[in-house]
Amino acid sequence: MNNPVNPTTGLDFTPAVGDMPFTPLQRELLAKAHALGRDKFAARAQQWDTEASFPFANYDDLREAGFLKLCVPTSHGGLGADYTTYMMVAAEIGRFCGATALTWNMHICSTMWTGVLADGIPMTDAERSEHAARRELHFGRIVNDGALYAQPFSEGTAAAAGRAPFGTTAKKVDGGWLINGKKIWASLSGAADYYGVLCTEDKGDHHPDARDTLYISVPATSAGFSISGDWDPLGMRGTVSRNLAFKDVFVSDAEQLMPRGIYFKGAQTWPAMFFTLSPTYLGVANAAYDFTVMYLRGEVPGEPPIKRRQFPTKQIAVAQMRIQLENMKSLFARAIAEAKPNPSKDEKMRLYAAHYSVMEGANDIARLAIRTCGGQSMLKHLPLERLYRDSRCGALMLPWTAELILDRMGRETLYEPGEKDE
Ligand SMILES: Cc1cc2nc3c(=O)[nH]c(=O)nc-3n(C[C@H](O)[C@H](O)[C@H](O)COP(=O)(O)OP(=O)(O)OC[C@H]3O[C@@H](n4cnc5c(N)ncnc54)[C@H](O)[C@@H]3O)c2cc1C
Repeated sequence: MNNPVNPTTGLDFTPAVGDMPFTPLQRELLAKAHALGRDKFAARAQQWDTEASFPFANYDDLREAGFLKLCVPTSHGGLGADYTTYMMVAAEIGRFCGATALTWNMHICSTMWTGVLADGIPMTDAERSEHAARRELHFGRIVNDGALYAQPFSEGTAAAAGRAPFGTTAKKVDGGWLINGKKIWASLSGAADYYGVLCTEDKGDHHPDARDTLYISVPATSAGFSISGDWDPLGMRGTVSRNLAFKDVFVSDAEQLMPRGIYFKGAQTWPAMFFTLSPTYLGVANAAYDFTVMYLRGEVPGEPPIKRRQFPTKQIAVAQMRIQLENMKSLFARAIAEAKPNPSKDEKMRLYAAHYSVMEGANDIARLAIRTCGGQSMLKHLPLERLYRDSRCGALMLPWTAELILDRMGRETLYEPGEKDE
């Protein structure tokens, strides 16, 4: 039996992002994401988790649904989703497979940073036209060939936290760049066609500077490029985030995804670019809550119809979970609506608060879900123990780990830019 259509949302399900008046495009994309997740991704999630293997079958479906080009502008053959729309759709996918949503975020960022975000970064006319030509090639690969991009920036140094220049370097040579260095935690390793590498321009002066950060795409087939390391983590096992090495990898000028100096400006102009990791975890939290309600009502498919809802302790725990989930959704919805270049101080604080609340809250909700549903609910054939492990990962992700958010919020609240103590 179909659920009734909600007159506010126009949808017959409640999206992970919550109830709100969606645009026709948002409604269409959310309905597609929900159907893909419910009918395909949910059933496969256990396989990627058990094998710690990349969700290739989900990517075939995402490609077919046009979701690899979700944020490519319509003028370039994409679906033209803006930042807010992407964040809503990503939460819906995270509800059914966290590893798929998280890796999809890495790919989408390659189109969003070069697309809608780049449009909001100040550039000279020359930079703007250079960027327009380069992104046409990049978007074309995704639109015409269904190419997949990874986003390796972590290096095991202070660089991914935004506190030091990237150690991976790019040296200008005739017709292109020579890349050297290493990355760790590169989700989509072995699955991506291109790796959108953040690196520092090697100007030969031994004074690496974060303002010289370059964003360059390295084709997976490049000579000197290799992938190594084991992959057997606690959670988000389908991301397959292994190590990358670059040994004198030559890439042509056309692989530059942003003009010189623009990534650094972008990171300062658009803090919301780092918030894109959070919808995955809002989806995971929603899934843990959904499961708890079904389990306590005795409605989990394939399980004995035993009701556990009659106990007041369970009712109170569900209420607590819902309160926390509503808090997370409200902050999330406000932050994605406010996302823009150069947000005000209050908007930035809300963004940090939203990110922290979602990343820590997802794990709180999954923890409460297991405690409330009880021992049988954490057996491997049910999704809850996977959700619990996946939910632990969000607060560890740089540059906005839960610790670093607290650090930034505290400092930026008490000090205005440039202010120092005696
Ligand atoms: C499932 C998953 C997928 C990922 N996918 C990608 C990916 O596709 N691409 C990518 O680039 N990275 C990816 N990452 C990596 C992630 O963003 C982090 O870089 C990684 O988790 C850092 O681990 P670490 O042990 O090296 O952290 P460390 O840098 O050793 O930090 C440990 C902790 O110390 C704190 N800390 C770090 N630096 C500072 C500082 N300067 N000041 C104060 N405190 C600090 C932080 O809270 C951090 O959690 C992924 C991570 C996970 C869990």
